[in-house]
Amino acid sequence: MRNLIIFLLFLGCAPGLKLSFDDDHIDNWYENRELLEEWKATLYVTRFDCLTVEQLCKLRELEIQGCEIGCHGFRHLNAVEYLKTHTIDEYILVEIIPAIQIMKLHGFEPESFAYPFGTRTPELDEMLKKYFKHIRPTDDVPIDFSTLEECLKSKKLHGHLINEKVKKILEEK
Ligand SMILES: [Zn+2]
Repeated sequence: MRNLIIFLLFLGCAPGLKLSFDDDHIDNWYENRELLEEWKATLYVTRFDCLTVEQLCKLRELEIQGCEIGCHGFRHLNAVEYLKTHTIDEYILVEIIPAIQIMKLHGFEPESFAYPFGTRTPELDEMLKKYFKHIRPTDDVPIDFSTLEECLKSKKLHGHLINEKVKKILEEK
């Protein structure tokens, strides 16, 4: 799949690996729906208000097939950059509430959130727990399989960008 950001998650509540894809590449995801169905991936969507009716239908179909549709912000803001000049309340008002509202308006109930650009603060993590069951961070470091068990036991959600190095590790497994 082209133009996709792929993450592996260590899910604390149900230990295991999960694939997720970010942004608004609905058409590309739909073209690869057979693979996504197999993976039961989480699709974190941003700029939900900009999606066409056709894309919304595709997203619905992917959800019915078993993919989770998560929230990836209303305007794909870099949280840490934004918070340099705004409050957390302003971030919630601009980036989170409208995103949830537009998703609900179209019949989607987001339970998971992934930070655009992976930038976050502990205070924001705390605040977002009021809105989402799962918050996916992004650690731009390769997965270290020797500490996988430790990661799972920590019951924390870890997100790892799949880069060439990680692909190689996965292929060797
Ligand atoms: Zn993104």
